[in-house]
Amino acid sequence: VRTLSLSGDWKFQPGDDLAWSSPGFNDSQWADTPLPGRWPVGGYPESDQFGWYRLTLALDAYRDGQPAPDFELALRTGKVMSAFEVYAGGELVGGVGKLPPLAEINYDRMTVLSIPREAISADGTLVLALRVWGGPVSSTAAWGGGPYEGDFALGNYSDLLLSGIASQIPGLLACVLFIGFGIYHLYLYRRNRQLDTYLWFGLMAINIGVYGLMLNQWKYAADLSFIAYKKIEFGSIYLFPALVIQMLWTLLDKPITPLLRSYQLSFVAAAVMVVAIPGLGIHAATLGYFQLWSLPLVVMAPWLMVSQLRAGHPEARTLFVGVMIFFATCINDLLIDLARVDTNRLMPYGFVAIMLAMAVSLANRFTANMSRLEEEVAERTQALSAANAQLAEAARIDPLTGLFNRRGFVEEAEVEIQRVFRGGKPFAVVLADIDNFKHFNDRHGHACGDHVLTRVAGMLRERVRDVDRIARWGGEEFILLLPETDAEGAANLAGKLCQSIADNVFEYEGRRLSITLTLGVAAYRKGDSLDACIARADKALYRGKEEGRNTVAVSEPGGLSLVN
Ligand code: GH3
Ligand code: MG
Ligand code: MG
Repeated sequence: VRTLSLSGDWKFQPGDDLAWSSPGFNDSQWADTPLPGRWPVGGYPESDQFGWYRLTLALDAYRDGQPAPDFELALRTGKVMSAFEVYAGGELVGGVGKLPPLAEINYDRMTVLSIPREAISADGTLVLALRVWGGPVSSTAAWGGGPYEGDFALGNYSDLLLSGIASQIPGLLACVLFIGFGIYHLYLYRRNRQLDTYLWFGLMAINIGVYGLMLNQWKYAADLSFIAYKKIEFGSIYLFPALVIQMLWTLLDKPITPLLRSYQLSFVAAAVMVVAIPGLGIHAATLGYFQLWSLPLVVMAPWLMVSQLRAGHPEARTLFVGVMIFFATCINDLLIDLARVDTNRLMPYGFVAIMLAMAVSLANRFTANMSRLEEEVAERTQALSAANAQLAEAARIDPLTGLFNRRGFVEEAEVEIQRVFRGGKPFAVVLADIDNFKHFNDRHGHACGDHVLTRVAGMLRERVRDVDRIARWGGEEFILLLPETDAEGAANLAGKLCQSIADNVFEYEGRRLSITLTLGVAAYRKGDSLDACIARADKALYRGKEEGRNTVAVSEPGGLSLVN
């Protein structure tokens, strides 16, 4: 066996006497104690928070067997609160932190110390002694002292160093992942400021990653002071509830009330405080209160999730599972600290559970948002095309009379011309112009003129077939397109229209008005352009005007003829 665990029974004595490092000292009166074994809260004030541990090992095998040439005996320490020295064979071989009077606290470091061959006595006995300082009153009052975590082990220097480093690699990778994940979410937020949940998620992932790094021996790769590491660690712990509140309430679509907001901000204030106030005392003094102060959240968060679960919120279940796993790991770790239960620390896994749950519901939320957006876009597109169709229709209609305007008429006529080309029967065009409309306008006013225009338009429309198209061609001029109609048929219709308008008595504000039309008729001839056809109708109309108005003139191949 190249590595020997030293977690078995050591001897312990509160107090401080350098003679206790000597291999010859008789420690049989000392108490038996396992390692790690934390001091009681309060420590040993009557001994100025000093205590010694001794272990006597029989290393016959090591002395008798031929040690490999690369074998270099070493001791790997666990974590000791708050500073300690290690003696082997009565000689100081190293330590962590500095004991009083320098009193430099440093209690997270596992270190590997080389043990010289001379430390082993001729009979193969090695006596190890730890001289431990519990730390300042504030910290021993809160946490006790002494070796509190990790095995002490004896073995080959490089083996111990490598296995120590290797055991910390998974934790390191997890932290790097958390931080990378967090930075990625901050980047997503930067690209789209609407994704504010991504900002909080990113900060939370980074916060957890940083906290994890502070629990990892790899942190010593950055050459910071012990106090700086502790400030970062406690700052991230104190910030955590604030971020949990932000994430949970946002993901479950609950507004953060002013009261909850001040509760949340109190955690931010506490985080700033432990970082800003110098020394370690602030941590020892506040950690207990912080845990108590977090209790409302421990109640509120499950309550929120259960109520949202009942309300059928889609994310409540996922988050509930994640947060419950996290709480379970927290309770496990609290039991290690408070009740000295001997299990593994699980909080890092709790963090993973909570982050996974949040990542899942964040993704769900994003997907839901996307489909909502897509629906909205589809709806808007539909509304837009409806509006477009309406606009296109409006562009073809004369607003005063509701008939086609010139553009609408031309479009309709072109369709009709196509139909004739494909072998359909020809159509006819009738232009109808109100007689002496100008005088009429002058005498009774423009509004009256508009009224007459609307009425005439209505009458014309009533008197034609559904297939006929009718448009306002100009000011007081109308045009009709009569499909499958020859000149004769069109002249007939025109005559009837002329008659009915002339017979009708129009009324406007109690005045009786008589209106007449002059109409020009032209049949479309295959090969004609629309313009040419309308020009012939116009010519006929002109002729009708010349002939005294209130009449119908027909354009015929041989010339013009009047109907009445
Ligand atoms: P004719 O019998 O030769 O057709 O004489 P007319 O006065 O009807 O013809 P003319 O082209 O000389 O005048 C048309 C008048 O129609 C001129 C304009 O004031 C009037 N007018 C054109 N558009 C509108 C309109 O939208 N509303 C009103 N109230 N009057 C219009
Ligand atoms: Mg006119
Ligand atoms: Mg006119």
